Amino acid sequence: MRKGFLVIISAPSGAGKSSVCQGLRTRDRSLRYSVSCSTRTPRPGEKDGKHYHFLSKDEFRRRVRRGEFLEWAEVHGNFYGTPRRFIDEATKAGRVILLDIDVQGAETIARRRRGDVTVFILPPSWKTLERRLRLRRDSSDSIRTRLANARGELEAAPRYDYWVTNDRLETAVDHVAAVIEAERLKSARHGRKKIL
Ligand code: ADP
Ligand code: 5GP
Repeated sequence: MRKGFLVIISAPSGAGKSSVCQGLRTRDRSLRYSVSCSTRTPRPGEKDGKHYHFLSKDEFRRRVRRGEFLEWAEVHGNFYGTPRRFIDEATKAGRVILLDIDVQGAETIARRRRGDVTVFILPPSWKTLERRLRLRRDSSDSIRTRLANARGELEAAPRYDYWVTNDRLETAVDHVAAVIEAERLKSARHGRKKIL
C-alpha cells in the first residue's frame, strides 16, 4: 500500500486555515484531520474532540513527558500539540492527513519526517485579517496578540512549499485541493511497484 503523507497548513491566525481545512474535508471524505490538543479556552461552538482535545496545562505537560506528541509548541500564550499515535496510524493506512498547525510545529515536523507537504495560507491584506479576527469575535486582547504575532509568522512563509491566498474561500479550497491531487500523483509516492 502507498504510504500516506501530511498536508501541513499554516497561516497567521484569522487568515482562514480552519475554514479551508473544513472546506477540504467536506469535499474529500478520504482526507483525515489531525485533531490537536490545546490548553486554550474553547470558543463558542467549538466541541471537545472535534476542533481540539481541550486539556488542562497539567494534563498537557503529562502527555509531553510521556512523548505523546509528534510536536508541540506554545502559541499566543497557550500550548498546542499534535498527537503522535493518530499520525502514525493514518500514515500507515495510506491516508492524506491535514494538519492546521503553527510555523514552529511545521518546522519540527520537517526535521523529523520526509515527504510531507507544506501550504501557507495568506490573507488578502492586513485589513482583511483584522476584520476576520473581529468576525470570529475573539477578545480584543487575543486580536492584539494574534496581529502582533502575524508579522513573525509571515516571515516563515518562504520556507513553505505552496502559497495560497484566501480571498474567496471556494477558490482557496480549490487551490489546496489541486495541490493535494498533484502530490498524490507524484511518481515518488508510488514506490517500486510494477508500473502496469
Ligand atoms: P484561522 O483558522 O486561520 O484562525 P478561521 O478559519 O477561523 O481562521 O477564519 C477566521 C474568520 O474569517 C472566521 O470567522 C471565518 O468564517 C472567516 N473567513 C475565513 N475565510 C474567509 C473568506 N475567504 N472570506 C470571508 N471570511 C472568511
Ligand atoms: P487557534 O487558537 O486560533 O485555534 O490556533 C492558534 C494557532 O495554533 C494557529 O496558528 C494554529 O495553527 C496553531 N495550532 C493548532 N494546533 C496546533 C498543534 O498541534 N501544534 C502547533 N504547533 N500549533 C498548533
